[in-house]
Amino acid sequence: MTEFELIARIAAQTGRRADVALGIGDDGAVLDVPAGQQLVAVCDTLNVGVHFAADADAADIGWKALAVNLSDLAAMGATPAWALMSLSLPQADPDFVAGLMRGFGQLAAASGIALVGGDTTRGPLAVGITALGLVPAGQALTRSGAQVGDAVFVSGTLGDAAAALRLARHGVARTLLQRLHRPEPRGALGVALRGRAHAVIDVSDGLLADLGHIASASGVGIVLDAAALPASQALRAVADASFRVRCQASGGDDYELAFTLPDDRIAAVRVALAESGLPLTRIGRVVEGEGVVLRDAAGHALEPGASGWDHFAEPTA
Ligand code: ADP
Ligand code: MG
Repeated sequence: MTEFELIARIAAQTGRRADVALGIGDDGAVLDVPAGQQLVAVCDTLNVGVHFAADADAADIGWKALAVNLSDLAAMGATPAWALMSLSLPQADPDFVAGLMRGFGQLAAASGIALVGGDTTRGPLAVGITALGLVPAGQALTRSGAQVGDAVFVSGTLGDAAAALRLARHGVARTLLQRLHRPEPRGALGVALRGRAHAVIDVSDGLLADLGHIASASGVGIVLDAAALPASQALRAVADASFRVRCQASGGDDYELAFTLPDDRIAAVRVALAESGLPLTRIGRVVEGEGVVLRDAAGHALEPGASGWDHFAEPTA
């Protein structure tokens, strides 16, 4: 199979949008940006051995490579429009490419994004996606607007993917593995937060690390209530309290949105999201100062040590 045959297979599954004036097949794509909108551009790469195992399912890789980018667009309040794919393959493997594009295509269709170009080279397995989204001019959401007194919220549940990764060798429930391999970007929430949230970030590196970015970019502190962090039934079933909180607070790969806003604005966000059934949980507040503090039920700060959480035992599961 030649590079051109591979590209033809990829091009067959790109999705269609009326605003693609010229898609795959020329030296570049030509895209119609609507008047009054701004482009939001994000880029994230998945590498074999770093972000996924060598024997990972090709469709899962395709889904996740797009999902992590859609999560960044959601955190910016942008609606997905176009994507480019930089694909590095050890060999021209048509089955792998078919699987990759099946997973990519499922999420692309669900999110309305069209693949408009890319690059295919020989090398260690890696999938890099550049995604372009649209936001009404001036309405992009950022990390830097948090204000003292804001409530801090997070969508969905936290820690599932981290638990799946850490417990993989013990055999893990399907629902946890699903959260690791098929994260669901929170696009509708990102749109609902436009004009309402003061600061937004997607939780990719762990809640504390990511909220730390909001705190430093906004020049504020954040206090979190450990008992309030939302956990799935599946996580509760496999983790004791200490391991659960570690996964929730510092595990990565959740792809939920964490955001701050005045308390009286959350009702409107909930109304906008009512059909999705996505839970939104108040987990803390924005205070004067700097950094992120996680407090236990007694109000004591839980300190992350070099090897994890000082107050927490090693995972028992
Ligand atoms: P060039 O040599 O001009 O860079 P290529 O032969 O690499 O062009 O690519 C031909 C067309 O196929 C271009 O439109 C390019 O955007 C598209 N393409 C190549 N690889 C991919 C890919 N992995 N995903 C999507 N489009 C791709
Ligand atoms: Mg060219």
